[in-house]
Amino acid sequence: MNARDILDKLVSFQTVSNVSNLDLIDWVEDYLAGHGVSATRVYNDEGNKASLYANVGPSVDGGVVLSGHTDVVPVEGQAWDTDPFTVVEKGGKLYGRGTCDMKGFDALALAAVPMALERGVKLPLQIALSYDEEVGCLGAPPMIAEMRKHLPAASAVVVGEPSMMKAVSGHKGGYGWWIHMHGFEVHSSLMHTGVNAIMYGAKLIEWANQVNDANMSATPSPMAAQFDPPFTTAHTGKIWGGTAHNITAKDCEFGIDFRLVPGDDIETYRAALFERVAEVEAMMQAVVPETRIEINQRFHVPPLQPEADGAAEQLVRRLTGDNASHVVSYGTEAGQFQEKDYSAIICGPGDIAQAHQPNEFLEVSQFKAGLEFMEKLVDHLAD
Ligand SMILES: [Zn+2]
Repeated sequence: MNARDILDKLVSFQTVSNVSNLDLIDWVEDYLAGHGVSATRVYNDEGNKASLYANVGPSVDGGVVLSGHTDVVPVEGQAWDTDPFTVVEKGGKLYGRGTCDMKGFDALALAAVPMALERGVKLPLQIALSYDEEVGCLGAPPMIAEMRKHLPAASAVVVGEPSMMKAVSGHKGGYGWWIHMHGFEVHSSLMHTGVNAIMYGAKLIEWANQVNDANMSATPSPMAAQFDPPFTTAHTGKIWGGTAHNITAKDCEFGIDFRLVPGDDIETYRAALFERVAEVEAMMQAVVPETRIEINQRFHVPPLQPEADGAAEQLVRRLTGDNASHVVSYGTEAGQFQEKDYSAIICGPGDIAQAHQPNEFLEVSQFKAGLEFMEKLVDHLAD
């Protein structure tokens, strides 16, 4: 099977994040077993999804991890000209859900396995495929923890998110909290005796506005200056609450999410948010003691901090010839690898602009560039 055959196969599995990816994982496991490579699964709590990791070649330190996710975003409500789960080649482009984000890279990583074995690599290639990346990078951390325990230490991790095969060494982090204001219902003519969950929630959202105003007017650090916007942001993208215009709202739920510049400390923001939550809760409880604020963390995607002369960056620069420095605004699993002391970088085929779109495509030329990257990587591991 060549890389293109593998891509066709991977795209045919409808691994949208809200369903099981086990059919795909079964297939990958069989494929690897066919090359004499044993893989390990790391299941989610429900047991309906799994990550998979494998060491290809000798069990020694110094190898390279190729990391991808197996899930894709939904196609519902999108106008596709072709079947999203069949790769269609047209005008130098490979159309299909996930061709760009990021089954194209997954296929290249799997195609590199027999290449590495035939070439007789001296340093291992490690494959790491996750689930639930598209819903907040939830699947990778347990897999990374297991890899740290059970695999020889790799010197570099290449996360193949679409970067047009450029070396991307930094991105912002993403941290989200979901807040449920539990208020107290009374007729709004007596609102001073009730606790309006929406109006107290607004105090927390206003806090987020103040964070943004303060960060926007501060002078950005040299690190932050590389990003657009050059500061950490706080954002509410969804809110729900209330019963009727003349009832103080009993419930209100909303998210507060941060996009964190590398070098900023999420702990500072978390502590400030929780302090504000405690203040607002005290105001609510002064009116009705049984009211409260429930707050839960939803996702945790650490930033990717550009590493000074990092091993992963050096490797990718050598293999691609790209010596410019790039940062991106989307979050990836690279920050999660880095958090576990891996040297990590993003480099993969395709343009992020095509990701998640109807008629998502990967240019054939990018897929070929990705294959050349794998050939050079295998050479590097063999020398
Ligand atoms: Zn992706």
